[in-house]
Amino acid sequence: MGLPIPVAAIARCLQCPLVVDAQAVASLPVSKGAYALVLRIPGRVEVTVRTNAHALPAGWYVYVGSARGPGGLRARLARHFRADRKPHWHVDALTAVANRLYALALVAGSECEVVRRLAELPATSFPIAGFGSSDCADCRAHLLRWHARPDAHRA
Ligand SMILES: [Zn+2]
Repeated sequence: MGLPIPVAAIARCLQCPLVVDAQAVASLPVSKGAYALVLRIPGRVEVTVRTNAHALPAGWYVYVGSARGPGGLRARLARHFRADRKPHWHVDALTAVANRLYALALVAGSECEVVRRLAELPATSFPIAGFGSSDCADCRAHLLRWHARPDAHRA
């Protein structure tokens, strides 16, 4: 399918067969579950989390969420791919400017379990504590950064 390296690596880590872009999102099931948005931001983005302003550098990021409402994963992920919606979640600041955006749907998955598995990869780190995880007491954040050269940021 020619997926970008971070998208392919994350799908492999999560053993996730349902990887879609904006064109394929309508083919997702309406099941409830967890999802990972893998996106690339082309330049620095300012975001405010817990009243603190942060700057994220250009690069690849993974945001993990869950879809429990009507329409399940299909409806929630379709919303993330729409450019015209009002900002509501922290991640909307990133999807609004992303130049690559893919979604991995995990039917019946748990978002915090997904974060835990991704955090074990040497290429990931948590750039902003509390990002996307206001309702979660277990995770440092539900946003991870993907490092193209994992050794550089852990040295
Ligand atoms: Zn969590």
